[in-house]
Amino acid sequence: MHFDTSAVAHSVYIHWPFCPYRCHFCPFVALASHDQFMGRYHEVLKKEITDLIAKTGQKPLLKTIFFGGGTPSTYPNPLLLDMFGTLEGMFLFGKDIEITIEVNPGTVSLDQLKVWKEVGINRLSIGVQSLKDGVLQKMNRHQTADQVYFLLNNAKDYFDNLSVDLILGLPEVSEREWKDLLEEVVTWPIKHLSMYFLTIHENTQLYFQVKKNTVVLPADDAVVDLYYWSRDFLQEHGFEQYELSNFAKPGYESRHNTMYWERKPYYAFGLGACSFDGMRRFQNEQNLMKYMHGVEQGKSIISFSEELTPQQVRLERIMLGLRRREGVTCEAIMEGLGSEACADIARAIVQLREQKLLTDANGQLRLTPAGLALENQVIMQLSS
Ligand code: SF4
Repeated sequence: MHFDTSAVAHSVYIHWPFCPYRCHFCPFVALASHDQFMGRYHEVLKKEITDLIAKTGQKPLLKTIFFGGGTPSTYPNPLLLDMFGTLEGMFLFGKDIEITIEVNPGTVSLDQLKVWKEVGINRLSIGVQSLKDGVLQKMNRHQTADQVYFLLNNAKDYFDNLSVDLILGLPEVSEREWKDLLEEVVTWPIKHLSMYFLTIHENTQLYFQVKKNTVVLPADDAVVDLYYWSRDFLQEHGFEQYELSNFAKPGYESRHNTMYWERKPYYAFGLGACSFDGMRRFQNEQNLMKYMHGVEQGKSIISFSEELTPQQVRLERIMLGLRRREGVTCEAIMEGLGSEACADIARAIVQLREQKLLTDANGQLRLTPAGLALENQVIMQLSS
């Protein structure tokens, strides 16, 4: 199965897997101590891009580009400049293109900020996570609050659109400390904030530490209460919630992420990168050597692909839609179903509204705060 190159995709994701350390909670395709492969990987990325886009027979128009990782802020300047040469050769950049790079404090120099601005990057997504150095050190994330301040103070002179990521539910962060953090964050020169729950992914270092009780996590109820407090606090301070984990000043919603949630097609390049052509999802090889060798030899580097069934499409629409401010329409949930199945879903909607788990405003369904806590149950009822 191959990416349908006649699909109209306006977004590109580029994966840069290199990291200066491996955080204990990390579930991503990320590699520490592999910097010696950066140069070769960069060449391979360019080849993967040019090989695929040449098949489209045109220069696709791009509205968003996202450099994710890994730690893309370790992409060396000369190589990044070269990457933009390739991108500009293969694509047309839309007038208002959003170009995001994920950035980790402690990995950024002033020179990099200048080069990023020069090449057209206009959005920084900064992995703050916490300002408690000790907590991050224990998670093997070697960054400090001072590095966060250095980055923010300098980045604001180059970029208007700054976003920060925070992790809610880290061990050894008290309720007061979390609230202090948010009270400080809303004073920063940022336009966007993503707040993720700490999730324990199987086979991460943290997973084993929690199993052995060497790390004790805060109680779920306490974390959920803090989430609601944070949501209200952020809204009071001008950050509107537009997705379960995402808050933005008006007009600064992430256009790249919105593209994912709207299930639009996108190209994705790099180790383990996942792409979507509108009908099929693909994942690249996750082994660095196999990935690089495959691209160099002109072989397929797709390790997984699937064509979505109508039921999967519906489930994705429900899952992604319910998490968003816009919600999901009844029509989108019922599309393609017979009258009996539609009647079942209509009954489920009535029941979920009575249980105050869903709201229905002119046919747009959204989760209530109580529904957020029971998200999986709601999705199950709407999709079965
Ligand atoms: S910096 Fe990000 S990608 Fe790298 S190891 Fe840590 S969480 Fe994973």
